[in-house]
Amino acid sequence: MRTHLTLGRLLGVPIGINWGVIGVAVLLFWSLAFVSLPNVAPSHPTSAYWFAGAIGVVAFLVSLVVHELGHSYVAQRNDVRVVEITLWLFGGVAKLEGDADDPGAEWRIAAAGPLASGLVAAVAFAAARGVDAVGGNRVLYGLLVWLVAINVVLAVSNLLPAFPLDGGRMLRAVLWRRRGHKTPATRLASMIGQLLAAGLVGAGVYAWLRVSWWTGLWTVALGAFLFFAARMEWSAAQPRPELLDESIAVIARPLPPALGPASTVAELERTLEASPWAPFVPLVDASGDVSAVLPRESIARIPPAQRSVVPVRSLSMPLVGLPRVRPGETVAEVADRLGRGSHWWAVVVDGGELTSVLVAEDVETVFDLATT
Ligand SMILES: [Zn+2]
Repeated sequence: MRTHLTLGRLLGVPIGINWGVIGVAVLLFWSLAFVSLPNVAPSHPTSAYWFAGAIGVVAFLVSLVVHELGHSYVAQRNDVRVVEITLWLFGGVAKLEGDADDPGAEWRIAAAGPLASGLVAAVAFAAARGVDAVGGNRVLYGLLVWLVAINVVLAVSNLLPAFPLDGGRMLRAVLWRRRGHKTPATRLASMIGQLLAAGLVGAGVYAWLRVSWWTGLWTVALGAFLFFAARMEWSAAQPRPELLDESIAVIARPLPPALGPASTVAELERTLEASPWAPFVPLVDASGDVSAVLPRESIARIPPAQRSVVPVRSLSMPLVGLPRVRPGETVAEVADRLGRGSHWWAVVVDGGELTSVLVAEDVETVFDLATT
């Protein structure tokens, strides 16, 4: 069975709803129509409370969507694709394709959700003031005040610095900027997240025993959920030193299609454009063997106007003079031999044949995952 139902699209993002939301909706309807509204606005017909309760449930779901659309809008503006928005038991989730690649964007994406909820609260507040000023319907007034409260709760609870909540993501962005690395920032933010979640479970148990079993139970469930979410992020952010013993074959980049001796620099330019990962294009000699490469940075030596006539031969670097690695070497061995951090690349040669290319940047990525 599918876990959720797709409702439609907003800002190009599919909006889905998890079956668990039905439980929350029934609960909210009950508390609004039978408890809150009759308290705030007594002596109205039952049908008025029921109608307002149903509107309230819809307004709650819309509030969740607006919160997630806040994240989605800013994510898209920062070139992070939003896969979908799903509403479920504890609120909404905007599923992003990967993370932002700089801490500033991460901070803005995280902050946008609570900000959107704050705006909804402000609009509902203004509407409630308006209804009150003209002596309008008390049930409507009660509903609007409830909507203000629920959006303030949404904004404030999401601002808790408990990763992966929005506030925790903002905290991670700040730590990330300070330390320059995302992984240690994730580790610290998700550790703080686990501590806060454990505190929430403790507070829930206390509330369960002393205040109201319902509030307590809900808080314990939320705390437990947050704890496991933070724990998962924490485990995923642990250093993995064993990666340094992996063979470089797993990070070597494939070769772009080779060019022949008669090709021009313009063809080289096009080939490199179609293969943005490649630092060079292999050059096949008259006998059909690859004995040289055409480095990306060498194109700059030929003025653009001459590129369609100059043959690529003039840019070739013989294979024998280049730094080379064997596919079986480990990342640690290669880093020892060729050095770290500089912008080198090396040809991967297997039994005399050029098979792929190793780029320093990829070696650095492995070191980041392994040691930070
Ligand atoms: Zn959020």
